[in-house]
Amino acid sequence: MSLSFEDLPIRDDLRGMIPYGAPQAPLPVALNVNENTHPVPDEVAGDILDAIARALRDINRYPDREFTALRESFAGYLGEGLQREQIWAANGSNEVLQHILQAFGGPGRTAFGFAPTYSMYPLLTRATGAAWVAGTREPDHSLSAESAAAQVAEADPDVIFLCAPNNPTGTPLPLEVVTAVYEASRGIVIVDEAYQEFAPRDSPSAVTLLPGRERLVVSRTMSKAFAFAGARVGYLAADPAFIDALRLVRLPYHLSALTQAAATAALAHASTMLRMVDDIVGQRDRISATLEALGYRPYESWSNFVLFGGVEDPSETWRRLYSRGVLIRDVGIPHHLRVTAGTEAETTAFLDALASIDSEA
Ligand code: PMP
Repeated sequence: MSLSFEDLPIRDDLRGMIPYGAPQAPLPVALNVNENTHPVPDEVAGDILDAIARALRDINRYPDREFTALRESFAGYLGEGLQREQIWAANGSNEVLQHILQAFGGPGRTAFGFAPTYSMYPLLTRATGAAWVAGTREPDHSLSAESAAAQVAEADPDVIFLCAPNNPTGTPLPLEVVTAVYEASRGIVIVDEAYQEFAPRDSPSAVTLLPGRERLVVSRTMSKAFAFAGARVGYLAADPAFIDALRLVRLPYHLSALTQAAATAALAHASTMLRMVDDIVGQRDRISATLEALGYRPYESWSNFVLFGGVEDPSETWRRLYSRGVLIRDVGIPHHLRVTAGTEAETTAFLDALASIDSEA
């Protein structure tokens, strides 16, 4: 038998853990990890390439450790009078979250989130030696301010994750839940707005709540709305003192010069990069309506994906979609599956494949 990592002198608290493992398969229609399936628009790709080419001329030197231009760009993009001292960035929002847990989690501490929620929260938490505590949601996956605040007060965690909208359910999170949780806690409150750009235009971001709340952090990513998942760029906004804490745990020069150049160039074209958001929202709503017509139970979604119930045997449906060239996600919730809204053609391929499976059954 081959060696397992558990045969090595690994940390006791890592034994039995399972790594993040969404399948990566070269299928024609991949709608399983909530990417933006539209490529970067051609007119922006040229500028990004030019910026990378310029950065390449200085690649013998370490990059700007403070990624000043990029932070300036994120502050401008988020608006609300934010200054670059309030911005942090890293290789994907996963690394941003890891930095927060390295500084505020760790052995003897706890992090808390309302299940079901993003599967990386417990993994990132435990990897720093902290304990994960899961709270609960209503049957429709929503959260009331009263229940959220009561659960947080009871658990008294050091770090709280509020995923808004929530992955894998798509559920919106009213700002009054954020303020109630903040008031009921003493720890860091992270609002993970990875999918905020897919929410209705008039729904305010938790960024508006930052003034006067030094324990509040709003994290974002370029992986979803910006169609930049492969570049690995996530960021957050918080009090400058919070940013100082993250400097203690990041690796020196953690954001490569090429990443900084590409992201800054992309942000200069934010409106073009975000052009596909309306289209994706349209496909998401079409998925929900069609799933309902097919007899499934889609949940309200403010993101670029739809969780749906009423699936008799999720692993069997997943497999049959797979054999038709369509990759979606079994998130481990009994009788549920999750699908990302793709281009119109990809979305049609998914809906047609599902309908054909149903008609066979
Ligand atoms: N937060 C949430 C809620 C997510 O769904 C994801 C990606 N699936 C991330 C953070 C991490 O994204 P990235 O590291 O690509 O920024």
